[in-house]
Amino acid sequence: MSELHKFLFDGLPVRGMLVRLTDTWTEMLRRRASNTQSGAYPEPVQQLLGEMLAAAALMQANIKFDGALIVQVSGDGPVKLAVAEVQPDLAMRATASVRGDVAPDASLSAMVNLHNQGRCAITLDPRGRFPGQQPYQGVVPLFGDRGEKLERLSEVLEHYMLQSEQLDTTLVLAANGSVAAGLLIQRLPTQGSGNLDGGAQAVPNEDGIGRSEDYRRIALLAASLQRDELLGLDADTILRRLFWEESVTRFEPMIGDTGPRFACTCSREKVGAMIVGLGAEEAQSILDERGDVEVACEFCGLQYHFDPIDVTQLFQPSSIRAEPGGAPH
Ligand SMILES: [Zn+2]
Repeated sequence: MSELHKFLFDGLPVRGMLVRLTDTWTEMLRRRASNTQSGAYPEPVQQLLGEMLAAAALMQANIKFDGALIVQVSGDGPVKLAVAEVQPDLAMRATASVRGDVAPDASLSAMVNLHNQGRCAITLDPRGRFPGQQPYQGVVPLFGDRGEKLERLSEVLEHYMLQSEQLDTTLVLAANGSVAAGLLIQRLPTQGSGNLDGGAQAVPNEDGIGRSEDYRRIALLAASLQRDELLGLDADTILRRLFWEESVTRFEPMIGDTGPRFACTCSREKVGAMIVGLGAEEAQSILDERGDVEVACEFCGLQYHFDPIDVTQLFQPSSIRAEPGGAPH
C-alpha cells in the first residue's frame, strides 16, 4: 500500500519525509494504458510523471495549506504538459499529454525543454476559492544558476523550495512502472517559537553556531540514496540504512484511508460547465458533426456523454453559471 512517513532529527533543526506510491501509482498507469486513444506512457514520461507525483505529495504534506497543490511541467518537446495534483488529505491524480515520439532514453530537457521554453509551475489552489480569486502560483525555469539545462526534476523543485520557503531542501525522487517514491530533507528555521531545542537558548545566527552543519551532514546522507534503493526497499530499511547514526523520531505513517491514494475530482457538473465555456455555437457545431458531445477525463479516463437534449439543457438560462470564458449566450 502507498505510504507517507514523517520524521524529525532529535534536537536538530532538520525534518524529513519519505513517500512510496505503489497501488496509487499503478492504478493511474493502468487507467492510462487501458485508454485506447493515448495508450501507455513511454517509459521516460512515466518516470517524470511519477517523480512529479511523489514530489507533489511531499510538498503537500510539508505545508499546511487547505487546498490542492499542483505541480505542472509545460514543455516545448514531445511532452506538452504533465500535471500532478495532491489534495490536503493526500488524494491525488496525475496526467501527461504526449505528442510525437519520446526516445526510450529521453532526458528531461529532450522531453520538455527542447527549445528552452519548458517551465515548471507550482500552484496552490485554495479550497472553496471565491469567484475571481486567483490561485497562488510560483514558476521556476528548467535552468540552473549557470544557465545549464536541468536534467533532474529534483533540482528544479529544490530551487523552487529555496525561493518560495527560503529553506534549504534536499529531494531525491525516482519512479518506474510499479513505484513512485521520494525523500525530502528540510532545514527548519531555528529562530522563533518553532525552535526544536525548546527555545532554551537564544539562537541569533544559526550558521554562526554550526547549526547548518547538521543539515548539510543529513542532506549528504539523503543524497547518497540510490534510485534502486528508493524504488526497491521498504521505508524502514531506507531510513535505517541512511540515518543509523542519527537519532530520529518517527511519526505514525500515513497509510490507507489517511495515506496517499488515487482519487479523481472530475464530475459531470464540471464537464457540463466546460461545455458551456465553449459557447453555444461551438457546442452546436460539435453536435452537428458527431451527433453528441463526448468528453473523457484525462486524469481517470471516465467518459462523459452529452446528447443533444443534455446540451440544450446546459444552455438553459437556469443552468448557466458564471464560469470564466463562459459568458451566457
Ligand atoms: Zn476524472
